[in-house]
Amino acid sequence: MCGVFGAYSTKGSPVLEDIYLGLCALQHRGQLSAGVAWTDDGTVRIKKGLGLVHEALSQNELAKIDAHAAIGHVRYATAGGTRPENCQPLGADYAQGPIAIAHNGNLTNARALAAYLAYKGAIFQTTCDSETILQLIAHQPGAVPLEALETALSKVEGAYSLVVLLNDCLIAARDPWGFRPLAIGRRGEDYFVSSESCAFDIIGAEMVRDVEPGEILVIDKRGIISRKRPPKPRHYRCAFEYVYFARPDSVIDGRSVYRTRKELGATLARCGGCPKNAVVAGMPDSGTLAAIGLAEEAGADFEAGVVRNRYVGRTFIQPTQRVREAGVKIKLNPQPGIFDGREAVIVDDSLVRGTTAGRIVSMIRGSGAAKVHMRIASPPVRFPCYYGIDTPTSAELMAAQMSVPELCRKIDADSLEYISCDELCRAIGLPKDELCTACFDGDYLEEEEKNDLLGF
Ligand code: SF4
Repeated sequence: MCGVFGAYSTKGSPVLEDIYLGLCALQHRGQLSAGVAWTDDGTVRIKKGLGLVHEALSQNELAKIDAHAAIGHVRYATAGGTRPENCQPLGADYAQGPIAIAHNGNLTNARALAAYLAYKGAIFQTTCDSETILQLIAHQPGAVPLEALETALSKVEGAYSLVVLLNDCLIAARDPWGFRPLAIGRRGEDYFVSSESCAFDIIGAEMVRDVEPGEILVIDKRGIISRKRPPKPRHYRCAFEYVYFARPDSVIDGRSVYRTRKELGATLARCGGCPKNAVVAGMPDSGTLAAIGLAEEAGADFEAGVVRNRYVGRTFIQPTQRVREAGVKIKLNPQPGIFDGREAVIVDDSLVRGTTAGRIVSMIRGSGAAKVHMRIASPPVRFPCYYGIDTPTSAELMAAQMSVPELCRKIDADSLEYISCDELCRAIGLPKDELCTACFDGDYLEEEEKNDLLGF
């Protein structure tokens, strides 16, 4: 994951506070670092740091800076590890002026391109795949910056949703397969680009539309100009954005994430996933909407039966034996009395390593449930993601190692059910050839176009 946000005010209003607020709305997409970039008198300026947006950046300081175009980034480390120099945006003043870039996605040929560029004399400052795009641009010193960016993008493969500052322009670009989301918003004369539409609400902007797969948008004082590249035979919009990553108040490619999650739950119910008189609860927060959808469709009781401690984050480390033993209870605790003597249907968005699911089943059983049924609002995750999500290898993915009945026994549930890939696509409302479902079915993008590196 990662989140990107960009702003351009055609009437010259300062936008850095908007970037700060936009990044706060995208915080769920990355908690490792946050940063912003703008230009000042022909020079790129960057502020970034490790941690959450409010730890890495000062809202007060940013609000005082008079910049009418800027970009921002929240980072969840995938390619390039957790080194501070890999925090984004990345920027430089090169032969054609200032440039800064913020990237969500993963470039699948970055290593080969970096080796080629290093051979040509490039000195890399980071181990981040996104720098490859900057270096590809800088290695075309005589080219017009926008054309150099377009050429660079024609050389990279994999997933990218980008915001770029090029001199006085804001550029938004989405890869031709559409892996990661990217949307355009507007507030009067100010334009915004965001990984998710939920960030427009916080700054009082309206969503205009999604950036289309393969589209490059140039935003400057004249407004927005769209430059489209030749379409691909099919798209690979990440299905997992709808299942888990995106915020439920976002609309991605015309599909409401909220409605999709409820529909995923209703699909589970239609597959016979809810015994009579069962009490339905979702794993907070990722399974809650699917649980509501399941309960509504099945006519069952929904209860907020599992309570989550919101102050124990993803980076939580289990340092002592005592804390290890407390395990999942530190993060999640069943509501007393809710499950007493009843069959419990517990809904989660996905099941990856299976360790948490096993502990949840035992926790719900321990709180008095007569039976515990696990329902997963996505297909089994059997394959790793190469497009910007830090999933484990197949060896660590439980569904890659065993059948569903074996998995059910492993987590000690009374039953375990998933939805199929076809049902997932139906719930999202897009045909299979518009979606990436590779981590479920191994249907990866075929790298049909091998890049011709000659010409640099
Ligand atoms: S492999 Fe899975 S997580 Fe990765 S882009 Fe495709 S659907 Fe999304």
